[in-house]
Amino acid sequence: MEYYVMTLFPDMITRGLDTSIIGRAIENQVLSLEAVNIRDFTNDKHGRTDDYPYGGGAGMVMQAQPIYDCYRSIADRLAYRPRVIYLTPQGRVFNQQMAREFALEPGLVFLCGHYEGVDERVLDEIVTDQVSIGDFVLTGGELPAMCMIDAISRMIPGVLHNDESAEDDSFGDGLLEFPQYSRPETWNGRKVPQILLSGDHAKVDAWRREQSLMRTAERRPDLLETAAISPKEKEFVRNFLANKEKL
Ligand code: SAM
Repeated sequence: MEYYVMTLFPDMITRGLDTSIIGRAIENQVLSLEAVNIRDFTNDKHGRTDDYPYGGGAGMVMQAQPIYDCYRSIADRLAYRPRVIYLTPQGRVFNQQMAREFALEPGLVFLCGHYEGVDERVLDEIVTDQVSIGDFVLTGGELPAMCMIDAISRMIPGVLHNDESAEDDSFGDGLLEFPQYSRPETWNGRKVPQILLSGDHAKVDAWRREQSLMRTAERRPDLLETAAISPKEKEFVRNFLANKEKL
């Protein structure tokens, strides 16, 4: 997977992604990451990349020309037409399913907006996907791009050391993950659930599945509508919620 991030703040991207698991994957060349400075492509002699909005109003708008030329400098090097993702609070809200889909691409180009946003004409010209990371407004698209790159990269074989761990994660099977514990067995008077110490893998798996179901029913009942759960598990959830109501 090759990532290209068009941004006015390339250091933010490279510094934000050069540590831990993603940093290691870049070092091992499982991923490549290039943060391309939009400012390097402006035709303005003062290096400007933004201007006042037509029609008036507060703030500045990122101009089309530097972004388009920045995009061409990337796309002209590629043997395929990349998907170009504009990070915007107006986009489709990012989720694990989208991370899985994007992970199948050979490369992705991200466009990080700033200020009031980007001249609509260049969005119409180059952007294939508009994606939001949630219903709130940030100062720029860099953090959303980093969130997406992190989540997408975890879906790419070779990025996580244990390839199974992504499957157990929350949303892997449409449910939230079960609670996790590590040593010591007792901490601050709190004991690890006995079943996890039993060595009986079938029982541990069954307990974890029940915990996932209960947790999802309590915290994110909306996920149960689309999660792959059996009729028996649906019954289990119904009983769990009915008993909870009685308490
Ligand atoms: N005026 C824009 C609007 O109301 O839609 C918001 C502009 S915001 C201050 C500046 C930039 O931050 C956006 O162009 C976008 O790239 C990024 N951004 C802000 N919030 C975001 C979110 N929730 N998801 C993705 N990108 C976001």
